[in-house]
Amino acid sequence: MSQWVYNYRGSLKIDIDIDTCTACQLCYDRLPSVFVNRGDGIPFVVLKVDLNQIYEELVQVAEDCPSGSILLSWTE
Ligand code: SF4
Repeated sequence: MSQWVYNYRGSLKIDIDIDTCTACQLCYDRLPSVFVNRGDGIPFVVLKVDLNQIYEELVQVAEDCPSGSILLSWTE
């Protein structure tokens, strides 16, 4: 599992579980400003835009990930 932390209403952590990811491409097709194919179909996180601008879509993409491999968590 890889982890990245970005500030968003406290800190938002975006975890990609690379053991369960099926490389379906959904996340980087829908949100290329956040997820990028690392070359083998597994995404890694880049953040090219203000997270506030794409937050709702990020939550939706995490929900739509067919293997539940995108985990969002918040810390104070
Ligand atoms: S949507 Fe989920 S299963 Fe598909 S590539 Fe992204 S993390 Fe992997």
